[in-house]
Amino acid sequence: MSIKQVFKRTGGWLYLNTSLGRGPLRGAGVILMLHRVLTNDRAAELPHRNELCVGPEAFEHLLIWLQRYFECVPLMSLLLADPESVPNRPRVALTFDDGWRDNAVNAFPLLRQYQVPASIFLSTDFIGSRQHFWWESIGETLWGSHGQVARHSLIEHLQHAGKPLPVMLDDLDVERRSLSLLHYLQSLKTLEPQVLSDLTQACPPGSQPQALNWSQVRMLEDSGLIRFGPHGASHAILTGLDDQRLHEELTRSRTALENGCAQPLPVYCYPNGDNDERVRQFVAAHGYAFGLGTETGLYRHDGDPLNLPRFGVSQRNAQHPELLAWRIRRGTHP
Ligand SMILES: [Zn+2]
Repeated sequence: MSIKQVFKRTGGWLYLNTSLGRGPLRGAGVILMLHRVLTNDRAAELPHRNELCVGPEAFEHLLIWLQRYFECVPLMSLLLADPESVPNRPRVALTFDDGWRDNAVNAFPLLRQYQVPASIFLSTDFIGSRQHFWWESIGETLWGSHGQVARHSLIEHLQHAGKPLPVMLDDLDVERRSLSLLHYLQSLKTLEPQVLSDLTQACPPGSQPQALNWSQVRMLEDSGLIRFGPHGASHAILTGLDDQRLHEELTRSRTALENGCAQPLPVYCYPNGDNDERVRQFVAAHGYAFGLGTETGLYRHDGDPLNLPRFGVSQRNAQHPELLAWRIRRGTHP
């Protein structure tokens, strides 16, 4: 661990363990953003997975840490809390984006064990379907998780799409190879959705669907610990859609949640966090009081309820939550 990280961890620890440090958190809420919980911590540590994946040990460590320093509450309790009633410890709410199958298989047993509530935001076209998230399918195929034949075939497709693979992806050092895969995947975000969809089709299907199905959604909702909201229908970036397609995305995702859940949340979670004035107006017109973005910051009952900030949880800061505390502290002094 670098000197800088030791400094941040110490700062984060002091922040939560002294009343002077905790002062700026009084009355504020913390919304955390997660995506996936894998079965293996080593797999989650690689740079191309670190931001979106946590391992089971790191996730459990995070839950224990959160219960020590925070009131773990459902998202709506945090959003609707009376600003005058300030609990001893700051409130925190967990959110998961996309609707990954591992949320039911790997995250939920730990959430239930520690009785930590969470909200899951579904990209509804994927729920109960075998449709795959492009970054996962392309990323893992290029990583070689589905064998060399599939990898080489996808590399050819990518070359045709004008995105030849960088030489660094053949590096023998696992960390460096993973890091260059991360950068390469980020560069694919500029491709047209149809091209990304065709490339995803060129990947092997895998043995399990990537997303939750509706009976898992109902099972989780029936537990009383988990609630659901929309995260787009197709996971298209909402700011890039014309008015008609934006209306369609919002309507389709809302209808799917109304049909699949008993009590969908009045909270819209923007794919990639991307939102602007027009998107927020549409979301409000579709009956949503709140919107979740990806800018970092604390929830203080002021600011735009349709662009709420969140703190992303990576494998690294789940393993070392003092790093998360450090980021939260920075969030109190923007
Ligand atoms: Zn997403």
